[in-house]
Amino acid sequence: RVPVICIDGPSGAGKGTISQRLSTQLHWHLLDSGALYRVVGHACTLAGAAWDDVPAVTAIARNLDVAFSSTEAGVAVALSGEDVTDAIRSEFGGQGASAVAVIPEVREALLARQREFARAPGLIADGRDMGSVVFPDAPLKIFLTASAEARAERRQVQLMQRGESVSLPRLLGAIQERDARDSNRDASPLVPADDATTIDSTRLSIDAVLSRVLNEAAS
Ligand code: C5P
Repeated sequence: RVPVICIDGPSGAGKGTISQRLSTQLHWHLLDSGALYRVVGHACTLAGAAWDDVPAVTAIARNLDVAFSSTEAGVAVALSGEDVTDAIRSEFGGQGASAVAVIPEVREALLARQREFARAPGLIADGRDMGSVVFPDAPLKIFLTASAEARAERRQVQLMQRGESVSLPRLLGAIQERDARDSNRDASPLVPADDATTIDSTRLSIDAVLSRVLNEAAS
């Protein structure tokens, strides 16, 4: 069986950065499951479907023509042959992802697609329900968290690099709202898997988190 390291947790905890670094260092495949949900939200916007239109969103998720490829700048995402890497990273893209992610049929439609990423020599799976739902047998499950304030600050830096400026109180509000929606939804709520190791990154550097994960992986 292909080994999987699950990195779950709320947005802004550093999952993306840590997962990229692990994938590069171990030469393992990388699944950015949030990007899949973002692509579904984006495809809905392009098709003129509302994010809460269950039959329409489900059909879009089932028929999604999405391709991931590794580039020097990270993972590139194409929807029906069009590069959407940048478009899906916007604040709006995150809202769309979070809205379509509450639909159980959408989560179900994306399940097999996510499991296909588990190929030799191994997979780093970045998401919310990697350890609890998608890869329940994974030998290592990390739940990476940080205070809402720290996550809002990190998000602001990321958005600034994209040329988007959003005030800290607004970002904090949006993060708290997204946390509440992700934790309280019926379909795969954001909770650590029973056998997950929790790491709080509020006061830890990226390198410190990375070495903790690698230590866990070696033990
Ligand atoms: O991680 P990222 O910010 O790209 O995820 C965007 C949204 O997609 C999350 O807020 C969450 O609602 C949803 N998501 C999910 N399950 C995953 C990954 C992401 O529900 N495995």
